[in-house]
Amino acid sequence: MKCNINDCGGNVVDDEPNYIPLGTDMVLKITDKRCEKCGAVYVGGQYQKLERIQNRELCDKLYRFYEENLHG
Ligand SMILES: [Zn+2]
Repeated sequence: MKCNINDCGGNVVDDEPNYIPLGTDMVLKITDKRCEKCGAVYVGGQYQKLERIQNRELCDKLYRFYEENLHG
């Protein structure tokens, strides 16, 4: 699809996904969309892709990452 926030004609593509750990081995992957040209971000609703991934290793990594950031 084309960017309709700024009407810049750029392509709207998947943004870098965010990962949120759920429980011990489940990860929620959230992908929003973003305009390649102007950088406008399309968040939520029809633009947001949610995916549950069962991956213990990734889950552990995310918890470690959050912990390290909390303790600064
Ligand atoms: Zn745009």
